[in-house]
Amino acid sequence: MVIGSRRDILGGVGAGIMLAGMATRASAAPSRKIGYAIVGLGSYATRQIMPNFAGCDHARIVALVSGTPAKLETYGAQYGVPATHRYSYKDFDCIRDNPDIDAVYIILPNSLHAEYAIRAAQAGKHVMCEKPMATSVADCEAMIAACKKAGKKLMIGYRSRFEPYNRLAIDLARSGHVGPTRFITAEHGFPIRAGQWRLDRPLSGGGSMMDIGIYSLNAARYLTGEEPVEVSAVESTDRSDPRFRTVEDRISFLLRFPSGIIANCISSYSSSHNSYRVTGTQGWIDMDPATPYEGQTMTIRKDGVVAPRTLPAPAKNQFAGQLDHLAECILKGGTPIVPGEEGLADMRVIEAIYKSAAQGTSVRIKA
Ligand code: NDP
Repeated sequence: MVIGSRRDILGGVGAGIMLAGMATRASAAPSRKIGYAIVGLGSYATRQIMPNFAGCDHARIVALVSGTPAKLETYGAQYGVPATHRYSYKDFDCIRDNPDIDAVYIILPNSLHAEYAIRAAQAGKHVMCEKPMATSVADCEAMIAACKKAGKKLMIGYRSRFEPYNRLAIDLARSGHVGPTRFITAEHGFPIRAGQWRLDRPLSGGGSMMDIGIYSLNAARYLTGEEPVEVSAVESTDRSDPRFRTVEDRISFLLRFPSGIIANCISSYSSSHNSYRVTGTQGWIDMDPATPYEGQTMTIRKDGVVAPRTLPAPAKNQFAGQLDHLAECILKGGTPIVPGEEGLADMRVIEAIYKSAAQGTSVRIKA
């Protein structure tokens, strides 16, 4: 894919203005709210996503899907979802007969994303799917094909694209605010607790890279607006640590982009990281932390002067922004700024990273 067309998808200055405009129009022109079915009532769904529908202009929760009847009871009561709109995974396909459901939001363990996205599309519903989009390039392609065939939209939950500091960082980096970008460093990691599906390869598809390292990779891609052409990766995992019997702990990976930009990235399940830096010929743009749920902090060094950069609090946080974005794409027509192709692009690089680490050689990535 050529750089120009990726820029169109990823946005940049123009997209920043567009989203700001959307927020303004939202209050001026209320329309029907898009009904979401939440699929998987785990930690991210119940603590971050569901409460943030309260800040949405165009989206509401209308249905719940869970394998745990007690959760359907509790959250159904809390969010006013009647028993007729509560589903198990077994009767998931019955969402087809519920006209209140416009879209599903898949917040399941990674390896289940593809199956439920495809079943949702076949049931005639639009799809929002959490990152990583799936656990293989083949599954990502099957999801895109299923949504295309059904004529339904597919968006990936890359919430940072709806967060003002990250949007500003994209605009500044791509417009050469600190000169043309030479290097990017991006680091993401946390010490993982034992006893969860993230450490079980059949459910996670991989270790830190699939879960948290993907933020480093995605940031390198959105800050450059380019697709990497070559990757070189080194993995280090203590296989005697019971947490890492089936998945990797640390990966350090280097990406080379067509313009010559080099990104040096970290992914870890045994140390804490959440930052990136864009270094140009005249200074740098620092984000530390870069991609938390809140509290992003930006510092810029330009021509020898270091200064913090602060933005006013947004009218809508990144979660509500993300939920409303798909809703507006459905209501008004349009392609999400983070469509299935965006998840597929990350997955292509992740597969190359794993290959490079396994082979001990750099791997070229096909456009
Ligand atoms: P949790 O373990 O907290 O929740 C996953 C839920 O999936 C479970 O509670 C369960 O819900 C359901 N589930 C169905 N089948 C299984 C199974 N075999 N094993 C375990 N759970 C199952 O995970 P998270 O909420 O942290 O993560 C879910 C997804 O969201 C992942 O893809 C993750 O990468 C993504 N995520 C994204 C974040 C972001 O910032 N964008 C942050 C955190 C996670 P039930 O009982 O209702 O069936």
